[in-house]
Amino acid sequence: MKKKEIQKKYNNKIKLINKYNDNYYNKSNPIVDDKTYDNLKKEILQLEIDYNFLKSENSPSKVVGHKPSKNFKKSSHKVPMLSLGNAFSEEDLDNFEKKIKNFLSLNEKKVIYYNAEPKIDGISASLTYKKGKFYKGLSRGDGKEGEDITENLATINDIPKVISSKDFPDEIDIRGEVFIQNSDFKNLNDKFANPRNAASGSLRQKNPNDTQKIPLKFIAYTFGYEKGLSVKNQSDFINKLSEWGFKINPLNKLISGVKNLIENYNDIEKKRVKLDFDIDGIVYKVNDFAMQKRLGNVANAPRWAIAHKFSSNKAISKILDIEIQVGRTGALTPVAKIKPINIGGVVVSNATLHNEDEINRKDIRIGDTAVIERAGDVIPHILSIDIKKRSKDSKKFVFPKKCPSCGSETIKEFNILTKKTDAVRRCSSEGYYCEKISIEKLKHFVSKEAFNIDGLGKKIIEDFWKLKFIKFPQDIFQLEYDKIEKLEGWGKLSVENLKYSINQKKNISLEKLIYSLGIRHIGLENAKLLSKHFVSFLKFKNLFKTNKYGDLLNIDGIGETQVNSIKRFFGNEINLKVLDELEKVLIVKNASPIKIDGLLNNKSFLVTGKLNGISRAEVKSLIEENSGTTVSTVSKKLNYLIIGEKPTKKKVDNARQLKIKIIDQVEFLKMLNKIS
Ligand code: NAD
Repeated sequence: MKKKEIQKKYNNKIKLINKYNDNYYNKSNPIVDDKTYDNLKKEILQLEIDYNFLKSENSPSKVVGHKPSKNFKKSSHKVPMLSLGNAFSEEDLDNFEKKIKNFLSLNEKKVIYYNAEPKIDGISASLTYKKGKFYKGLSRGDGKEGEDITENLATINDIPKVISSKDFPDEIDIRGEVFIQNSDFKNLNDKFANPRNAASGSLRQKNPNDTQKIPLKFIAYTFGYEKGLSVKNQSDFINKLSEWGFKINPLNKLISGVKNLIENYNDIEKKRVKLDFDIDGIVYKVNDFAMQKRLGNVANAPRWAIAHKFSSNKAISKILDIEIQVGRTGALTPVAKIKPINIGGVVVSNATLHNEDEINRKDIRIGDTAVIERAGDVIPHILSIDIKKRSKDSKKFVFPKKCPSCGSETIKEFNILTKKTDAVRRCSSEGYYCEKISIEKLKHFVSKEAFNIDGLGKKIIEDFWKLKFIKFPQDIFQLEYDKIEKLEGWGKLSVENLKYSINQKKNISLEKLIYSLGIRHIGLENAKLLSKHFVSFLKFKNLFKTNKYGDLLNIDGIGETQVNSIKRFFGNEINLKVLDELEKVLIVKNASPIKIDGLLNNKSFLVTGKLNGISRAEVKSLIEENSGTTVSTVSKKLNYLIIGEKPTKKKVDNARQLKIKIIDQVEFLKMLNKIS
């Protein structure tokens, strides 16, 4: 790569990390999880190592936190508040100790004591005391200047306002962590993703009365500027803090040797789920203050301390229960209800167990201690079980043989393609007999790719079901709006909006309607094939009379599995009734045979960003109906890039470079003569 390109790549990464910092530190509302953040930080640091011409004032190797918010008066820290270096493995810890010994020219065998302190995941604050009185309180800010949040900090009960102990220094900055206990976090509304963000947001309220309403806690662990402190090491200092009236972490421990640090780390990681506060690692601090002084700091972190972080995508917790969820196609999915645990910035309380076979293979039981993994957007799952932690009276989990929702027999089907029995057990009922299946079918019916009804999300479907407003798809088009208006959270305007979006969707294509019915094995593509075969709703509906199921096998793409599923669907009376009722309330557009000389003939399209009132699937079918094609990447083959709200920058940049025509939704619809 050329120097210019490397510089550009580096600048972009710095820009991105600044954006993440702003959202995390200033807005208390992170837009990525900690693992994504840490990976980006690592990439930047690696680039700086590989290319020494890369330097930035805003590099994570230089900065601490983020500039103080404009909402508060700024104030300088007499002694900077730094960040901490990170360690993730035993090797990192060995290196940390080696560097210390090299720096201080100590013999390899010299024993160094560390104070190991669980790293509470809150936000740090510096409290200045003058003559035993709480005088000023600052946030960390960018390490040099913090926000003056004295009044907010003063609302916290754990912070002593007056200290009369004789040996309390004349002037001292006591530093520690402000946090919310998990049990208190549960009672807050769900504005924040995790307790850390809740603590940060609450502490930095403009009005201290708002801060007072939140049960914030404070644990002290270090000091900044001091005049008159006579203590010589960290562990004694922590004891002093307790004598002076501060809360300290009961799990702090004095330890020597990397092996012992690891043992303590493993031990604390197991205890983590039982604690009432989030910790994201353990901080090791060289205990001796004289040594600390000699070691000093690098740009933004002390040389004498390091944070040994817990894995940001795994954690240990306890399985409290195993629930069986029933999906739209009757699949029974076991879900472990786990004791809530913070994994990489997200509080996790459910983990999928996939299916019956997975439970048997891993012998997962209620009450087990498990390692839970949360990677990317994938649903958290159980990685392994600690059999040693299992109690003697633990019982094997028996997978239900009857559907937990409707009591029907459950079956494991034989898959003709793989020639194996399915790992998934299913409820054998059909149609709308099973309550759980019915609700899931209704959710599918209104989903984005199906009827795409704005304002009728999953939660509302559940609520309307409980209130007996809907039972079958046709009920959606015959809602009693005056009843909805009386419900909590609804008003005239929201009901009007709902009515409008439902009425708008009464016009539907045959292809969408077939997909919406949620027939097993009939996804978007198959629904399209079937609609082209039947052309009209009537012909589709009459399949149960004509019995011409065999003909369907002639459709390229439709196989025996699909045909059997369609047969099952039409063999059920309630399904037939649903079709009759839908016919009464809907206007179903006939499927149009593929045009070869449509308005978009020989033109290719790609959509980026959110369009207004029209789903991606609908755009795709509009394009195809008019003889155009859709592609998935920006390349020379692309003719038009349609951009909506928040488009992917890279796609737009690439299209510009390749001189591809960029159009918006209005221009696109004009091409189809949909608007003038
Ligand atoms: P850090 O990891 O460098 O650690 C320093 C902080 O540890 C201190 O300021 C203090 O608040 C805390 N701490 C807790 N107990 C302590 C103890 N006993 N002694 C000393 N310090 C103790 O913190 P940082 O620089 O604020 O942030 C880095 C962390 O924040 C990373 O884990 C990162 O993933 C996360 N982060 C995430 C995002 C995001 O967008 N997801 C953005 C920024 C930062």
